[in-house]
Amino acid sequence: MNKTIPVKRNDYIDVIFEDLTHDGAGVAKVEGYPLFVPNGLPGEKAKVKVIKANKGYGFGRLIELYEKSPDRVEIPEVELHKYGGCQLEHISYEGQLKYKENQVRQVLARIGKLEDVKVHPILGMDNPWHYRNKAQVPVGQKEGKLIAGFFKPRSHEIVDTDESLIQLSEINEAVQAVKEIASELGLSAYQEESHKGDLRHIMARYGKQTGELMVVIVTRTADIPQKNKLVEEIVARLPKVKSIVHNVNSKRTNVILGEKTKVLWGTEVIYDYIGDVKFAISALSFYQVNPVQTKVLYDKALEYAGLSGDESVIDAYCGIGTISLFLAQKAKKVFGVEVVAEAIEDAKRNAELNGITNAEFAAGEAEVVIPKWYKDGNTADVLVVDPPRKGCDETFLQTIIEMKPKKVVYVSCNPATLARDLRILEDGGYKTVEVQPVDMFPQTTHVEVVSVLIFKEKAGS
Ligand code: SAH
Repeated sequence: MNKTIPVKRNDYIDVIFEDLTHDGAGVAKVEGYPLFVPNGLPGEKAKVKVIKANKGYGFGRLIELYEKSPDRVEIPEVELHKYGGCQLEHISYEGQLKYKENQVRQVLARIGKLEDVKVHPILGMDNPWHYRNKAQVPVGQKEGKLIAGFFKPRSHEIVDTDESLIQLSEINEAVQAVKEIASELGLSAYQEESHKGDLRHIMARYGKQTGELMVVIVTRTADIPQKNKLVEEIVARLPKVKSIVHNVNSKRTNVILGEKTKVLWGTEVIYDYIGDVKFAISALSFYQVNPVQTKVLYDKALEYAGLSGDESVIDAYCGIGTISLFLAQKAKKVFGVEVVAEAIEDAKRNAELNGITNAEFAAGEAEVVIPKWYKDGNTADVLVVDPPRKGCDETFLQTIIEMKPKKVVYVSCNPATLARDLRILEDGGYKTVEVQPVDMFPQTTHVEVVSVLIFKEKAGS
């Protein structure tokens, strides 16, 4: 019954790309057999070389473009840009938005069987560059100098980068300055193989609304050579710095941060605002990386929640309470749930910082905590979920269906699991009313979506 594979390794073939995969590769079909080719765009005619021919699909490399897509923009060293985190940089921003919006529509129809759902045009950025407020950059060494940038694919080699086009300029400046200062002071870079050397990563975080900068130096040992001089120079060269933190990571691991963190200079946290809500950000806190679009996303979530002031709201997967505190301004009461205990501590502190007294937070898994609340007789009028990529746990979705909050606002960073979960909720009596894609991560393949469901009894029940 084996279908024959129409191509074999090292074949050169002419194709027309029809689609893009979720990670931004072009898809061409050879007698129905899909071939995934990085850097190919829908509509383009090209010569490709077959690199791998698996049973159901294959991979190829772009050799020559015969016809280019109007969405293509020329950038030098396209491969390097991609591995530096900008997988869609070869597509115009308009083209990227179109692709992301289509992806959401397609996935909702294919996986969620939600053909008629209202998907609004994606909300993009006016300026889709230099938006990230955080960088964690690995440090290496070349010809006696320190370099910092990103790892080449499938290798341990670091590509030195002066500027990342998606980082805020304050972040780029901070990384460059620390790299130069550490190099001048003769610090060595950490070497994976020998587990020797000093500097592992340079991390920087920036509060766009407050102008406060944090620098985190990650080293292998608790002692930093030339520590005082290093701090002095950072303070002198980076006037926006408010906090310099030392993190020690003595393990053989590719996890960036270690367990020990110490403030070397300045404050332990920096602050930032999303709308009117103030957040304290420590070296280890989770905080959204695109502050401009976070506001757009949360405003939409708030609009969809449609609060009048009388509602009790549950914010599942609440992180440091960002959405919870946003909603608390308009709700009677908000209960946030999050599995990371430290994030819950941050959430409580952030509530206090803003004088918000109608938000409570609990540490635990949403699928354990919320069913228990429900069993104890506690429900909510509005439920907000913002799960990680794998989506919501099925038992949690069943609890939602039993609990029947009037509205569910689903914020998702993965359209595929969103579609799967919306289907389960629809089968349980909910109706997906609106879906709004938001581009939180221009130049990358990531797409964020916020959607709202209302409870409607199942037909016949
Ligand atoms: N709503 C927050 C965070 C969203 S990220 C914000 O907008 O900033 C998703 C969060 O879900 C992470 O903080 C992660 O730690 C948490 N999480 C993952 N699995 C979970 C689970 N089973 N129960 C509760 N929280 C979980």
